[in-house]
Amino acid sequence: MSTARRALRLGMVGGGEGAYIGNIHRMAARLDGQWQLVAGAFDLDPDRGRAFALGIGIEAARSYGTWQDLIEGELQREDRVDAVAICTPNFTHYPIARALIEAGFAVICEKPLTATLADAIALAELARESGRFVGVTYTYSGYPMVHEARVRIAAGEIGTVRTVQVEYPLEWMAKPIEREGNAQAAWRTDPRKNGRGGSIGDIGTHAYHLAGFVTGLKLRELAADLATFVEGRALDDNAHVLLRYEGGARGLLWSSQVAIGNSNGVRLRVFGEKGSFQWFQEQPNELIYTPLDGRVQVIKRGAEELSVDAKVRSRTPPGHPEGYLEAFANLYAGFAEAIRARTEGREPGPLGRNIPLAHDGLKGVAFVDAVVDSHEAAHQLWVTPVAV
Ligand code: NAD
Repeated sequence: MSTARRALRLGMVGGGEGAYIGNIHRMAARLDGQWQLVAGAFDLDPDRGRAFALGIGIEAARSYGTWQDLIEGELQREDRVDAVAICTPNFTHYPIARALIEAGFAVICEKPLTATLADAIALAELARESGRFVGVTYTYSGYPMVHEARVRIAAGEIGTVRTVQVEYPLEWMAKPIEREGNAQAAWRTDPRKNGRGGSIGDIGTHAYHLAGFVTGLKLRELAADLATFVEGRALDDNAHVLLRYEGGARGLLWSSQVAIGNSNGVRLRVFGEKGSFQWFQEQPNELIYTPLDGRVQVIKRGAEELSVDAKVRSRTPPGHPEGYLEAFANLYAGFAEAIRARTEGREPGPLGRNIPLAHDGLKGVAFVDAVVDSHEAAHQLWVTPVAV
């Protein structure tokens, strides 16, 4: 089906009334006019899902009760959806994505790709074999200044990377809100629905992807210390992870759901032999560059000197702040470009390159699995100082 000169048709699973990320997907998909949301099975409860769909202007015939109905219904249409976004809790990603790929649809899947490593391996393999497009919404790789850092590090601007410090601290689960009626916290603290890694699976995966994306470093091994500070919680709510990359670089990753005073305070610092880059999501339009023996410099979004990769992901002149929604929209614009390039038999332009795909999702799940394995074996690592 040609995709030239028309908006791509998007379907969505999850993201119904009261859900978090589905609404962000809808806003992001709309921003550049590359996508039109035309179908959805938005809720675990079919009636609620259909009512929600009608309420946001989806036509009745495409307001589905279940994702199985969505697949069946869309397959019968000439104007079927070009891709389906999966915005449901982690354990449902695998069966939904698998069925969509097998039915021939492109998929945009939330992170973590799946709740278990076995499912992630199977899904990445299915994506590879089938050749279907599978994008994964690692939000922070949508920011223009993150791309700028990636381009400059790849060009050798700070020399060989020595150490990477990355953190994703949140405060919203500092109390047992999963037992106080918070539905989002409830599935995130249930290992069967969330997977083995609590904070590390939910937000540590973002930090891990961000560090690898910007530096190009490949993880060799890790050592992790997980903690569950809120009594009775079944999964970690705080993770400290030591990283050793191929080539000798080191890293330190912190994810926390109990870091009071922090809301999505993602921070990345990369130190090389000739300089460093720092990027903080609360000041996303700035990349801080410090050369060895030089002054601290602030590189700003919108500046003429920026790379193509950063420029194509920027919409407004310098000084007008761009942020989270624009970064998410960059992922959607990149997915659209990659899907169009496939159907038109051409190479994608810069927006459709360096985007998170199924294999990146698999690497994220493998990381979480290794973190939990390391923690469970970690007693061997700990050394008590001599009593003095
Ligand atoms: P949520 O609990 O707010 O919403 C989940 C939605 O999915 C609900 O509307 C629920 O009814 C629906 N749902 C559940 N099972 C369904 C099914 N079988 N069919 C149809 N709908 C179904 O969850 P959330 O916080 O929005 O998280 C959803 C996913 O997004 C998770 O995988 C999470 O890790 C991910 N997420 C990613 C980011 C990001 O920055 N990229 C941020 C938040 C959440």
